[in-house]
Amino acid sequence: MAVCRLCHEVLPVKNRRTIFTPTFGVSSQLTEVLGYTPRDDDGLSKYVCGFCFCKLNKLSKIEFDLKHKVQTLNVEKSSLLKSLRDTYLSSNAAIKSPRRQQFVTSESAPRTPKLLDSGKRITYHSPTPRKCKKPLLFTPKKTTERTILPKRTVTEENKSADPQPKRVNVKLFSPSKVKVMYMSANKIKSRVIPRGDFQRIVKSVSQHSSKDRIGRLIYKSSLKDSVNKCVYNEVNKECMNLCSRKDISMLRNCSSENLATFSASTLNVEIQKRAPLLHGILQHVVKGSDLGTVVTGAIALKFRNKHLSAFHHVVAQILDHGGATDETIDTLGKMGLCVSSSAASKHKQQLLERKAENIESLMLREKLELEKTVHISDILQNYICA
Ligand SMILES: [Zn+2]
Repeated sequence: MAVCRLCHEVLPVKNRRTIFTPTFGVSSQLTEVLGYTPRDDDGLSKYVCGFCFCKLNKLSKIEFDLKHKVQTLNVEKSSLLKSLRDTYLSSNAAIKSPRRQQFVTSESAPRTPKLLDSGKRITYHSPTPRKCKKPLLFTPKKTTERTILPKRTVTEENKSADPQPKRVNVKLFSPSKVKVMYMSANKIKSRVIPRGDFQRIVKSVSQHSSKDRIGRLIYKSSLKDSVNKCVYNEVNKECMNLCSRKDISMLRNCSSENLATFSASTLNVEIQKRAPLLHGILQHVVKGSDLGTVVTGAIALKFRNKHLSAFHHVVAQILDHGGATDETIDTLGKMGLCVSSSAASKHKQQLLERKAENIESLMLREKLELEKTVHISDILQNYICA
């Protein structure tokens, strides 16, 4: 009766495997187990049982997997190493932030997909059906994900909780994919960034490109409209601040004191301080001219709020003083370049009164000064006469 060379169980004919046939295939594993090379004529059993054969087979498959995984990992390692070195060399500011390590963006080993795709492994060696199924299960998911992703922004992806938690499978990198891995509630999550704008943005962030370059990429992407909207909102907020009645702008202050001492450079400083974005935009419009910034700003803000009219009052006074007719002033007023003639004449009166007061106080002071000197000279004269 035949027995198994390994476990020495008695073997029925059906359940045995002959060791010395070309189809046996696991001779080297058997040799490793036995500690010697079995030979046809060594007088021992020529068979192993089905169980032992299975286990030997598994051993062979593990060896195969080990070899290939090490190879795959090595390729991945060297490609990652190369990309990190490139990054390090191309950017001096690269190594500062340890948080960067959370983004593992990879265009991985070129050999990985080949190994996965080749039928060789599945047909002859791959032992565990699960391992073959994994990529098959993953691929369809990826396509549904792509239709969802473009709606989100990159930052959202990094921060928001993943609605459908998925196993992270680092092995499945392929050259055209960009994957972002991040921590969320103590779990590592990963996302495939769809090809196109977002992929370029994530790549340039991970390569530590300059902020200007990243900004340009974002602006050129489909996010452009959203970025513009942010800018409009910001300008609107700044203008609301300038028009506020709490902390009044010098454009709103139409007292004769302010009109008489109105200065473009002070207004320039005010706009720069309270509405930096608006100031920047205006400066670019007028190619850096300070006066241009002030004039366009004042005119624009008057269109927004009719009470911001100090600049327009000044213009109306200049026109009036230069001999412009009321009709001219009113026409220019309708164009938003100055106030109406009636408002101008009202303020003219106030300005004249202010001027008169100033002159009066000046004269009074002069008179007092004069009286003082006269007084002293009188004393002196008296002194001399006496
Ligand atoms: Zn056995």
